[in-house]
Amino acid sequence: MTHGTSELAERVAFITGGATGLGLEMAKTFGRRGARLVLASRSEAHLESGAHLLRSEGIEVLTLPLDVRDARKVRAAVRCAYDHFGALDILVNNAAGNFIRPAERLPEKAFANIVDIVVNGTFYASRAAASFMRDQGRGVILNIVATYAWTGGPGTVHSATAKAGVLAMTRTLAVEWAAQGIRVVALAPGAMETPGASARLWPSKEFEERVRQRVPLGRFARLGEVADAAAYLVSDRAEYITGECLTIDGGAWLGRGVLDVAPGEAIPKVTRRRDGPPDAE
Ligand code: NAP
Repeated sequence: MTHGTSELAERVAFITGGATGLGLEMAKTFGRRGARLVLASRSEAHLESGAHLLRSEGIEVLTLPLDVRDARKVRAAVRCAYDHFGALDILVNNAAGNFIRPAERLPEKAFANIVDIVVNGTFYASRAAASFMRDQGRGVILNIVATYAWTGGPGTVHSATAKAGVLAMTRTLAVEWAAQGIRVVALAPGAMETPGASARLWPSKEFEERVRQRVPLGRFARLGEVADAAAYLVSDRAEYITGECLTIDGGAWLGRGVLDVAPGEAIPKVTRRRDGPPDAE
């Protein structure tokens, strides 16, 4: 193997939705640092192509077809991963669904479905993994959220609500499970160009450009840099971090002040008036 570092050597990482987009990038990054991977998602085609790519780099991988909405199957998959590798060190709750729809036109079923994948799926997988991590006396659970968990996100009430739930779950379980050696952390990436996001979140090139222009650092997040941040959070270098959410979004969620200054825009000169409120020039 020609992996750059071995900071995750021999660690077993179970990644839901690990065969596409950010999930696959994290699998690659963890694998290059020595981890053995479990990819779990619904599509056999995704699993096959993801595993093929990892194996071509000499990374050990187990694929498990799984719908995270089914608690019993989640428990069985986690057990199968543990039995296969004899350990379970890292769980990444990355599986999600998202699309843009105004709340008044969002079918109740669609709202429930996203909450089911993101909130329930994260809970089922976390609890199943924790039962093995507890016996090992150590483990890390990394939840992939998004900044609209705390800013809100018009057009994505289903996903924003679900991610907010996962953030609360992160902080809650971090405290409940700390004494058992289990850390629970979150990562909130900004807009990334993954096939899933590009197809469903920005409907045209113009919208894509608008998204980009809102980012103070002037670009989308790169999958590789987000996966690097994830690798740090699940490594021993972050062993004193729990219950925390790392945002990696180029400053996109931050406020623009009372004058609503856009990234790159000059801050207007404000002269102090003696007889009233200041004028903006
Ligand atoms: P993606 O490629 O569409 O990833 C979603 C993954 O979830 C897919 O691999 C999918 O695999 C899996 N999945 C969906 N429903 C599932 C279910 N019921 N059971 C098991 N697996 C399921 O999108 P992405 O952009 O890489 O997103 C990855 C994570 O980053 C998500 O948590 C997303 O919310 C978060 N995020 C993305 C962005 C962005 O701009 N892209 C920004 C902030 C946060 P199958 O189809 O094989 O089931």
